[in-house]
Amino acid sequence: MAKKLETDILCIGAGIASLSTALSLLRTLKAQGKKLPRVTIVEKSRSIGNHILSGAVIDPEGFEGLLTPEEIAKMPIEARVTKESFHMLFNKKIAMKIPWVPPMMQAHGFPVGSLTKLTQYFAQLCEKEGAQIFTSFAVTELIEDAKGRIIGARTGAKGVDRDGKPKENHLPGEAIYAKTVVLGEGGCGILTEKLIKSKGLYSLRGDQSYALGIKEVIEVPANEERAGEIDHTFGYPADWSTYGGGFVYHVSATQVMICYAYALDYTQPEKDPHTLFRLFKRHPSVAQHIAGGKSVAYGAKVIPEGGYYSVPEVVADGALIVGDGAGLVDTLRIKGVHISMQSGVAAAQTLAACWNANDFSYEALKPYTKRLKATSGWKQLRRVKNVRAPFSTFLGLGVMSAGLAWALKGLLPFWMVKMSPDHEELHPLKGGKLPPPQSLPATPTSPDRLTDVFMSGTIHDEDQPCHLKIKDRATCRECLLKYGAPCQRFCPAEVYRVEEGHVHIDFSNCLHCKTCQVKDPYLNIEWNFPQGGDGPRYTRM
Ligand code: SF4
Repeated sequence: MAKKLETDILCIGAGIASLSTALSLLRTLKAQGKKLPRVTIVEKSRSIGNHILSGAVIDPEGFEGLLTPEEIAKMPIEARVTKESFHMLFNKKIAMKIPWVPPMMQAHGFPVGSLTKLTQYFAQLCEKEGAQIFTSFAVTELIEDAKGRIIGARTGAKGVDRDGKPKENHLPGEAIYAKTVVLGEGGCGILTEKLIKSKGLYSLRGDQSYALGIKEVIEVPANEERAGEIDHTFGYPADWSTYGGGFVYHVSATQVMICYAYALDYTQPEKDPHTLFRLFKRHPSVAQHIAGGKSVAYGAKVIPEGGYYSVPEVVADGALIVGDGAGLVDTLRIKGVHISMQSGVAAAQTLAACWNANDFSYEALKPYTKRLKATSGWKQLRRVKNVRAPFSTFLGLGVMSAGLAWALKGLLPFWMVKMSPDHEELHPLKGGKLPPPQSLPATPTSPDRLTDVFMSGTIHDEDQPCHLKIKDRATCRECLLKYGAPCQRFCPAEVYRVEEGHVHIDFSNCLHCKTCQVKDPYLNIEWNFPQGGDGPRYTRM
């Protein structure tokens, strides 16, 4: 029988939002001279930060009330933004520099660096305050009592063979009971999505919209003058009706972070975000940043883009949702780290009040929503609430709506502009067959997909049940005929391949990016948790 463990606050996922919750809660109560709760953080990756992916230019607003000036000074950040530019990429050769950086994009003086390292730093601060962090354990299930209140969570078993039988190193899952569970799983979190559905916590729009962000770290010949230089782009290689844009951050004299984010409401099944990322890096405006370099790290992750109208209810009986799992990303600025921190602080203030009153009821947890809505991050989301939707119609319309939203502080349009769920947007394949993939020569700054997967460090024990399940093979065949099995193209890790009319799954390549959860036109792929500790091993993302 599985062991029963107890804590007071259980945080699922050791990302910035969860860690901010734990840190702020413990510090708040310590400052009040109160007895401290037991705070437990459970993380599925092997080490802290291994599943964290973000090119981070961090809006320092998030540090307010969370870190001391000394702690901010000691952050593992090598540079601050010294020079910024913004380019519209028209086609594979032509770019136009926007003469001024739009006010909402300005980031002069902001820290720029690896979110993986910043997460590790936050984890150390949390442990110093008394939080307990367990890595390599995937939380696979929320536990409810008879009245439907969340009362804890269960970790998945480890050491199970591909047929589901226990192996010599078998470790059963454990139930952990808590007064409140904080869900900080990141974008498209499996437990968060299930909770939203089972408790009806739907956003005003009903669905979230995502982009797939693909990122590399590239080592370049040393150039001190470029440390802190950042460039944002939009346009090519996205077409005129798909939201796409990238960034290039010189995080030090020898290291560049480069990312291209492609909206997953694209319509053509043959689109391949990894190839688009490679085309982006070949654009002369981008290529000059990485000339003479070598790619050394790779990763991919979905980014919630729906914004204000796609944020679900963030409180359930016994649970709070923080950070990217709640879709707290400012789509226009492509910034969410500071809002994640603010949501963590808002959750912590609520939990501190609950702890002091010894009341963790639904009513006592509800003020988290109000506190979240009082943050500057929330106001930013509201200001650009309708900006993302017009980009799906025509790029020019999107740009106009962004300017209008900024000038009128989000007042117009005052209604909610509609967006369809990403998986509904694909058009049937023209000609009934996927065209062959675009062939690009592999170079040190443009590795092929499998070389990239190798650089992600992803590892899965292959003698375990496959964590990717095709729910219905007949539907899979229908998808192959109608859409050409687009999973072959949208997966940035070459997990899916078609042989003799059958989709094969190389689950050991998986980067846990969740694109297949979002873009499969029939929602026929079920992403389950592989055993804890498996997956990518990002160390410098
Ligand atoms: Fe991402 Fe799904 Fe491919 Fe894994 S299998 S890398 S989650 S698209």
